[in-house]
Amino acid sequence: MTQKKDDKKFFEKELEDYREQVWGCARCNWCQNQWGWSVKSAEFSEICPAFHEYRFFPYSGMGKMHIARALIEGDFDYEDAPELAEFIYTCTTCGACEMNCQRMQDKEPLKVNETLRARFVKDGIGPMPEHKKLISSIKSYDNPWMQPRTQRDRWAKKIPLKNAAEESVETLFFVGCTTALDPAMTKVAQNTASVLLKAGVDLGTLGKNELCCGSPIARIGDRETFVSLVKKNVELLNSLGIKEIVTSCPGCFRAIKVDYAEIPGIPPINFKVFHSVEYIDRLITAGKLKLTKPLPLKATWHDPCHLGRHCGVYEAPRTILKAIPGIEFVEKERIKDQSWCCGGGGGARTAFLDFAQKTAAKLIDEAGKTARADAIVTCCPFCEQNIGDVLSRQDDEMKLYNLIDLVAKAVE
Ligand code: SF4
Ligand code: SF4
Repeated sequence: MTQKKDDKKFFEKELEDYREQVWGCARCNWCQNQWGWSVKSAEFSEICPAFHEYRFFPYSGMGKMHIARALIEGDFDYEDAPELAEFIYTCTTCGACEMNCQRMQDKEPLKVNETLRARFVKDGIGPMPEHKKLISSIKSYDNPWMQPRTQRDRWAKKIPLKNAAEESVETLFFVGCTTALDPAMTKVAQNTASVLLKAGVDLGTLGKNELCCGSPIARIGDRETFVSLVKKNVELLNSLGIKEIVTSCPGCFRAIKVDYAEIPGIPPINFKVFHSVEYIDRLITAGKLKLTKPLPLKATWHDPCHLGRHCGVYEAPRTILKAIPGIEFVEKERIKDQSWCCGGGGGARTAFLDFAQKTAAKLIDEAGKTARADAIVTCCPFCEQNIGDVLSRQDDEMKLYNLIDLVAKAVE
């Protein structure tokens, strides 16, 4: 998705800056449906998880445009619709509405919704109570999971990593809160570090001193907390003298690569930013990693929204999957920029768990029916948590892997 060019950066924009856009909404519904040319069946033709679940226009991208228009023009106020916060916060920030609207109508319904959220937070109407706990945890512990800072590097105990704050290092592995602290996800951190070290990368981490990237608070609209966290992060990261950051979390990837530059007054970052799938694809191409061990698996790829639609990384994970011997790679119906969100992003899983899980169930159904896959492979901790919960609850035979775990097995 592209950012429309004007004088203001995204995080300084007010709702009124979108006046022309919201009046220009054509009510064409491209924001609710898959791009026409790629539809293969009625069952999997929709694209907005919130509208799919609630069947009421205020939940769609179009609905957000009209809520914004009404608030800008004073047509209604918060007390006229007690459900407003729910309309705004069930959005998973998947970006599908914006992707399709930009193609046809050149508008930005997701940016409008994120700006609505910022207005709600400023006016004390948002975020949802569950989000407030997350914000308070970030303020107290530098992570959204209420975990003490001392736990952040426990995953790395047996891995010979440099401490980037104390010694010179070329590449910083930015682990991210969920990968570092969710016990079910720490294997992703361990495998990422081990694979990169095996390829000869000069790798370090910030250990206990890594801070949340700020992505969750950016998405739920708490701009004040986000900006103060980004200031600390940019000062710390720019002081390290690193050449590049690699992260295995699409949320961190998007925040550091895209969002930090959209805050006025923040110095530009002085390093490159890669998601681990892009980085590993380059290492394979350069002959520094060889995938030799066969893994017999019929696998499909789930594009995490913050990696795919938000940052345009679609091919690298597919190239890696196809390069692993034994894997039969199969595609689902909705892929790449028309992919169906897992339901876990944008604070939706935090505040609306049932909706998030129904959205993941739809994804699992699509992977089974249209790709006839035995396994879903992805590379996002939130997708993995959300899809994984539903697979366990359904006692489903479909398997779920993080791509790095397959790469770690294939390079053994
Ligand atoms: S695709 Fe864009 S212009 Fe069309 S209804 Fe949705 S928000 Fe409005
Ligand atoms: S970002 Fe995704 S969930 Fe939110 S309104 Fe747009 S399509 Fe729907």
